[in-house]
Amino acid sequence: MTFTVKALQKTGPDAPFEVRTIERRDPRPDDVVIAIKAAGICHSDIHTIRQEWGPVTYPLAVGHEIAGVVEAVGSGVTAFAVGDRVGVGCLVNSCGECAECLDDQEQSCLNGNVGTYASTDVDGTITQGGYSEKVVVNERFVVRIPDALPFDVAAPLLCAGITTYSPLARWDVAPGDKVAVLGLGGLGHMGVQIAKARGADVTVLSRSLKKEQAALELGADRVLATSEEGFFAAHKREFDLILNTVSAEVNLDAYLRLLKPRGVMACVGAPPQAMSLRIGSLIGGRKVLTGSDIGGIAETQEMLDFCAQHGLAARIEKIGVDAVDDAYERVIAGDVQFRFVIDTATFADAEPVA
Ligand code: NAP
Ligand code: ZN
Repeated sequence: MTFTVKALQKTGPDAPFEVRTIERRDPRPDDVVIAIKAAGICHSDIHTIRQEWGPVTYPLAVGHEIAGVVEAVGSGVTAFAVGDRVGVGCLVNSCGECAECLDDQEQSCLNGNVGTYASTDVDGTITQGGYSEKVVVNERFVVRIPDALPFDVAAPLLCAGITTYSPLARWDVAPGDKVAVLGLGGLGHMGVQIAKARGADVTVLSRSLKKEQAALELGADRVLATSEEGFFAAHKREFDLILNTVSAEVNLDAYLRLLKPRGVMACVGAPPQAMSLRIGSLIGGRKVLTGSDIGGIAETQEMLDFCAQHGLAARIEKIGVDAVDDAYERVIAGDVQFRFVIDTATFADAEPVA
């Protein structure tokens, strides 16, 4: 059985967003029904729904930065109760049995995990994401939002937070390390805060100095404009780690020259285009070029607790369901400080078109 809720969907890559009625399944024994309070807009939502990463099935609601309140639980749910403050990120299910799942790396599930949107669910339907009033999720994929974090500034942590937390933890960023965050958008602004909280000396590499004041407020030690003449030559061999959050192609060879010998460039930005690389850029100085995919569920909880403990949260611009098309244009133009978050209360006044 199913129940209906409102969701913000597109019916094609170039169609505007529309409030439409969708079906959510009644909770299975291990499901949690969440009344969504806030949903962040990640650049991955844009890549996906515009089919920049490949074909998707429409109508589609995206959104994988979800914060809300438990409204109902299945008969077998033990970890959550009605009224709990919870979050859901990019995953809503995985096999739970493969080596990766058993190692808390559900994002790499060997049997194929279920993404929060545009993915085939356990019942064969296409998952519909967080731009919606409610979502039904297996309890293993639900995390707790600490009381210290309001829903709207917590929602972006569910993707932007974990995606930057995980590589900074994996490469053990510590006091004294010189970290560069490349691209100051939704991911980048969390990367700055988390790297700073880990004690690093943090440099923001942005296309211009337009966001300098905001970057310093986030804790950055300095901001450098990558478009400035002589930038690459002036900062050769300066950083231990570059966290690349850029949603477009970058000149990998040029950025690798900014690393100290044995430095690491961790890429999380996921532009659709292929990028070229001279292997010599890695050989000289024995450098590491690596990627990172969100993080597992246990690490996502660890990240939320870390953010609450260190007073970190997203800087957001809150919008109603009628403003998402405009918001997408502004994200693409790099014109948001630093995450749009949909206030799902605005669904109440919206008449569904279907
Ligand atoms: P965003 O808010 O749009 O930020 C991206 C930033 O990249 C911009 O603020 C801008 O920074 C820089 N940028 C954009 N276009 C550029 C260009 N043409 N040349 C150079 N710099 C450019 O996006 P986001 O939500 O943070 O996501 C960033 C990327 O990470 C996306 O590709 C997204 O799909 C991906 N992602 C990956 C994961 C993962 O698990 N690996 C998870 C979430 C998102 P400045 O204005 O400071 O230059
Ligand atoms: Zn995302």
